[in-house]
Amino acid sequence: MSEDTLVSVENLKKHYTSTKTLPDRLFRRTSPPIKAVDGVSFEITAGKTLGLVGESGCGKSTTGETILALRSPTGGTVKFDGKKIGDLSDTEVKNFRRRTGMVFQDPFASLNPRMTAGQIIREPLSVHDVGTQDEQRDRSKSLLKRVGLSADQYDRYPHEFSGGQQQRIAIARALAVEPDFLVLDEPVSALDVSVQAQILNLLADLQTDFGLAYLFIAHDLSVVRYVSDRVAVMYLGNIAEIGPTEAIFERPQHPYTKALLESVPRARLSESDREITTLEDDVPSPRNPPSGCRFRTRCPVVIPPTDIDIDQTAYREVMDLRERIEAGTLTATDVDSTTSNTADAGTPSQQSMTANSVWPGEISSSLHGDNAVAVKTARAELRDGNRQAAIETLRDRFETVCEHDRPEHSNKTHHSAACHLRH
Ligand code: SF4
Repeated sequence: MSEDTLVSVENLKKHYTSTKTLPDRLFRRTSPPIKAVDGVSFEITAGKTLGLVGESGCGKSTTGETILALRSPTGGTVKFDGKKIGDLSDTEVKNFRRRTGMVFQDPFASLNPRMTAGQIIREPLSVHDVGTQDEQRDRSKSLLKRVGLSADQYDRYPHEFSGGQQQRIAIARALAVEPDFLVLDEPVSALDVSVQAQILNLLADLQTDFGLAYLFIAHDLSVVRYVSDRVAVMYLGNIAEIGPTEAIFERPQHPYTKALLESVPRARLSESDREITTLEDDVPSPRNPPSGCRFRTRCPVVIPPTDIDIDQTAYREVMDLRERIEAGTLTATDVDSTTSNTADAGTPSQQSMTANSVWPGEISSSLHGDNAVAVKTARAELRDGNRQAAIETLRDRFETVCEHDRPEHSNKTHHSAACHLRH
């Protein structure tokens, strides 16, 4: 941890145990916890911005709320200005609340409709007992002006403002008690594009003027690039890649980061006909995240076992097939019993076959030799009702390092990707 580190997050976890349904209680079932955040580590330097980016549901907002102690962590530590949040005394907690704040995505929902703009901005000053009533009023008016509104708008209600103006009020409220650190949770994604740039410029100006540190949460990569000094890419409760903004955007190392960047539309005509690798399938459930690397079920370059010869397309298809059998979405009734089902003899070249003859409608590429035999054997086992044997047959042949070893970050302070291809 460097001297300038303001926020230090180490192996932070936030798991949710779901309420039991009636069938759960009747059958005494316990459902696994939802691992919204599962071992996240990073640091935020005073006066700088860390962008936290990822698809919806990856745990970004939960991370921000847990750092601010709005949710209690399941594990790990958060230190603010060198002090562990969980160990703070009541007085220190109050001081922590005063030095931190949050701006939410939907400004209208975050403002009390029965309070005027002035009352909303004054509220934190009253809570923290800062200044006299007159001083609080003066400060609120000056904050209104500082965020680009007018002191004359002090007595207006939230519904009388536009979305961009409402977000300015929310920012003024967050600044009222002169914090050092703000969590900005998708602060511009609910606003018109024309207003987004104004709010981003305002946030940048305020950061310069007040020396604020930001955790800027967003799913929009271009916004994150614009505002961040460093970027952390989050996937299913983990940090996939972290590093300086330029390194992340110019030299991405993690396959997930590369896929996210590939999906960003480009304005340059020279790039308009480029091949785009889109991420297929949805993010898996955080209740049952994949073992090993969380990204392995969608990774376009998942690593095959070193001792088998198979191309990436065929390997991806076999992996998908296994996942479907394990999840119970591919069953004996889905297997076409009219095709050959024996893992019988023959030379490797005789065993070479298109997978369509082995697993109708499921694999389109060619498999050869022992790879084809393994798939064919698993098919017969599934068709005969022996699902577990089919899973074991495919696992024995095709299990990958990406599946049984969770990749770790090799460099905590510079540019690092949690991927076995990096080691
Ligand atoms: S560890 Fe494996 S599955 Fe995960 S991103 Fe790297 S290559 Fe892909």
